Amino acid sequence: MTGIRIDAGVASALAGFTLPEKLGFGLVTAPVMFSAVYDGGWDGGELVPYGPIELLPGARVLHYAELVFEGMKAYRLGHDRPNLFRPRANYQRLARSAARLAMQAPSETLFLDALYAIVRACTPIIPRVTGQSLYLRPFLFGTEPGYHIRPSTTARFMVIANPAEVYSSGPMKVAIERADSRASPGGTGVAKTGGNYAASLRATQVAADRGYTVALWLDAASRRFIQELSGMNLFAVIGDELHTPTLDGSILEGITRDSLITLARSQGLKVVERPMEIDALIAQVQGGECTELFACGTAAIVSPIGVLGEADGREYRPRDVDRVAARLRESLLAIQERRAPDPFGWVHEVPPA
Ligand SMILES: *Cc1c(COP(=O)(O)O)cnc(C)c1O
Repeated sequence: MTGIRIDAGVASALAGFTLPEKLGFGLVTAPVMFSAVYDGGWDGGELVPYGPIELLPGARVLHYAELVFEGMKAYRLGHDRPNLFRPRANYQRLARSAARLAMQAPSETLFLDALYAIVRACTPIIPRVTGQSLYLRPFLFGTEPGYHIRPSTTARFMVIANPAEVYSSGPMKVAIERADSRASPGGTGVAKTGGNYAASLRATQVAADRGYTVALWLDAASRRFIQELSGMNLFAVIGDELHTPTLDGSILEGITRDSLITLARSQGLKVVERPMEIDALIAQVQGGECTELFACGTAAIVSPIGVLGEADGREYRPRDVDRVAARLRESLLAIQERRAPDPFGWVHEVPPA
């Protein structure tokens, strides 16, 4: 156990908070947050009322994007104590992301204790409706001011939280991005870092202006191979198999992706990880061999794709929308919400204080 300080304002912040009718995704912010400071070593951290933070304008995060983050959920359906889903996988990824940016990660103990602290405090405001949860956003950033190009010697680790519905936009319209690139081998695509999102914003804007939901990224060198969507990994149903791009050193290793691969295999579905050419996939959609496309990530779990589109207006529609995807989403959500057995040991109950 750690010495996380609970600020005197936390109880009243929570007492004054009521869960609104409409949660959306990220629209409602929990009234408390966790914060710990690194300055040669990590302090114990504190839970404080949610509010603005102080940061020097020269802080490296604001200039050199020294920032890594995670996204995860706490559930509380049918159990008094809330549960997380594979939080150690999130910790390991945060540590890898931090290492890629030469940042000092918190220890696994500090990471888990921070999550426990905010989830325990927020337990009364975790929705108990299926599909709803407390979305958790841990993030780590460099706070030392200065322009000198070297890692920050000071950092801050925070966790904010949002009571949320499952992120859903209906069947997505996916715009194939053939001009901009987002990540390359040796770059930061494998790290969950803000810079990757910054690189994706122009294409996202262009896609949105054309009525599309999200951009699909191709490999930076040849623009032939599929990487992923801006914040979700991609799957295709081809014949009676599930295909997904190989982790090539520029794709983010999604924990939902990994969970779906395990889950699908346990249900007897063959899963193939391979380099996937965009033009071959389009031909398979047109020829009917590829019957369904979907994407996955913590926020949406599994999100169906209705249309794949080119900038010139050509569109390709897989025959099925949300068939295999719906089945996998329900199977995974049932484990996450502890409505189904957890043969893989993924559910992680938050221990009592
Ligand atoms: C977070 C993220 C994902 C999904 O990862 P999960 O662990 O499944 O939530 C996929 N791609 C990118 C770029 C991401 O940042």
